Amino acid sequence: MAAALNLPASLTFVERDWLSSNHLIGRSDTGNVLVDTGYCSRRGLTLQLIDRALGGAPLHRIINTHTHSDHVGGNAALKARYGCRITIPQQDREAVTLWQDEKLNYQTFGQACDRFEADDYFDAGDIVEIGGLTWQALGSPGHHMESLLLYQPEHRILMSADALWEHGFGIVFPEFVDEPGFAAQEATLLMLEDLQVDIVIPGHGRMFGDFGQALQRARQRLAYFRANPQRHAFLAMKVGLSFMLLDRQRLALAELETTFGELPLIQRINRKYFNMDTAGLTRGVVAALLEAKAGRVIDGWLLPPAQTE
Ligand SMILES: [Zn+2]
Repeated sequence: MAAALNLPASLTFVERDWLSSNHLIGRSDTGNVLVDTGYCSRRGLTLQLIDRALGGAPLHRIINTHTHSDHVGGNAALKARYGCRITIPQQDREAVTLWQDEKLNYQTFGQACDRFEADDYFDAGDIVEIGGLTWQALGSPGHHMESLLLYQPEHRILMSADALWEHGFGIVFPEFVDEPGFAAQEATLLMLEDLQVDIVIPGHGRMFGDFGQALQRARQRLAYFRANPQRHAFLAMKVGLSFMLLDRQRLALAELETTFGELPLIQRINRKYFNMDTAGLTRGVVAALLEAKAGRVIDGWLLPPAQTE
């Protein structure tokens, strides 16, 4: 039986899904803070959930662990509602300021994001306050080179974003642009081993307590990907299609070669690992999605497996 995971009373965890990142809300006299804001097409639900968690109190600051669309998609709507500051990792500053879609991998991967402007920046080694507690920002290259994690040493809480989930971690995107993402992810997992952690708040999935087991699974998964980079690349395409499907709720099969297969990041992955014709590649990814029961086909439409947000 796992022990109950009790967060300090000033913190509220809100679990979302694989389209929208989880949220952590910290309330304090010095300002209310929200970590990560979900995906843009679910902004209405995000506003409701954050409103409820704040119980009518204002939001002063958003902190983003990284700038992927599923972690910053609610930024613009929340800033419009609350006039809060937005704090992002220092290393993502230029990409966000200039809104460099290729670096942010939004449209290039079939995703959208409401444009926002950051007000300030934080970096590895910085201390931020959330819920009246001090948190250390830790660099966590791998899934995203510029991503930061947040660690609260007294309560031994880790906000692990997409660098560590209960079962694995996020796709290691830097590998697709010829950066050493796997090596970086390995270094990040090694860094995490030295932390004392009782509660992990991941970017997706439930909170969990068994940090050691999760690290071990992550190490095994990374070793598998390093030995089988094509499997990792194929999984990235499957995850990309699954994400589009969760967002749009239905995709016309006849158009997928264009709407999915021709996306710049999909083509880049294809050229690097597979060199297939776009039609064959698209069919292969759809087949894998159906086999994993992450989608179903009805009347020429690809639909999500079950009820989602
Ligand atoms: Zn991410």
